[in-house]
Amino acid sequence: MDEFDLIARHFDWPARRPEVALAVGDDAALIDPTAGSRLTVATDMLVAGRHFPLDTLPEAVAHKALAVNLSDLAAMGAEPLAFTLSLGLPRDTGTDWLSRFSGGLRRLAERVGCDLIGGDTVGADTLTLSVTVIGRLPAGQALTRAGACAGDRLAVSGHIGDASLGLAVVMQPDTVPASIEPAGREALRRRLDFPEPRLSLGRSLLVEASAGLDCSDGLLQDIGHLLDASGLSAMIDLSAVPLSPTARAWLEARPEDIDRLVTGGDDYELIVALPPTLEASRFPELTVIGELVDGPVGEIRERHGRALPTRRGYQHFENAEA
Ligand code: ADP
Ligand code: MG
Repeated sequence: MDEFDLIARHFDWPARRPEVALAVGDDAALIDPTAGSRLTVATDMLVAGRHFPLDTLPEAVAHKALAVNLSDLAAMGAEPLAFTLSLGLPRDTGTDWLSRFSGGLRRLAERVGCDLIGGDTVGADTLTLSVTVIGRLPAGQALTRAGACAGDRLAVSGHIGDASLGLAVVMQPDTVPASIEPAGREALRRRLDFPEPRLSLGRSLLVEASAGLDCSDGLLQDIGHLLDASGLSAMIDLSAVPLSPTARAWLEARPEDIDRLVTGGDDYELIVALPPTLEASRFPELTVIGELVDGPVGEIRERHGRALPTRRGYQHFENAEA
């Protein structure tokens, strides 16, 4: 199969959005933005063995490549419009793998209303994916990392840390407590493989939250980014960080792994600053874990005194080989 057959067979399904005037197949795509809106663009790249385990299912690779990008749109408070997909494919990639990959990609894309409008396909030694998403916001609006104020509460969505435990299930199986049943291990692995971008929550927070970002490189590190951009410190209560029942069971057996939960990556939850006037209970997906205060910029203190390591989390260039 040559490159053109491959694209026609796996990556050319009809665009649905009225704004997309021309999608896959020409030299470039065409988008007619709606009046009164602005566009927002995000790119994230994934390399096999680095950003997902080598045994990850093709459906999951596709889901994750798109979902991590949609998570950036969610964090801006934006609605997805369209995306491009650039693929570096090992030469032995089979049609079965590609069918499952494109099936997984299309399922998420159609569910959230994001049209595939183009990309590039090349041969590569290691499976590499780069997705660029285009989203839409009302003109003049966006939820950025800057803009939080002292006195705002700090809140996170969903549960934190399941994906980092899911990675431990794959990479360090001997660290999994015996009390975690196979179904629990499976649930953690699913949180690693199939992150759910918080799109509707992000959109409903657009005019309500004062700042926000998505949690992709570890809770503490990502809170640090919000603090840096907003020029603040945070006081947080580690015991308030929302954990799934499986993560709680894990911590009962290995309390020292709290570190792994708050510094591991791949959560794809939202971290937001909520002004004091906002009723946090309006957003049942959110849990308040602390507040923003004046102080040394970027510092996170635990409510009971100790300073926490803000700079810990996933660092791509920590190892010289990167
Ligand atoms: P060109 O040489 O003009 O860049 P290509 O042969 O690379 O064109 O691609 C042909 C068409 O297929 C273009 O519209 C391109 O956007 C699209 N395309 C290529 N690879 C992908 C892919 N992985 N997913 C979606 N569309 C793709
Ligand atoms: Mg090309």
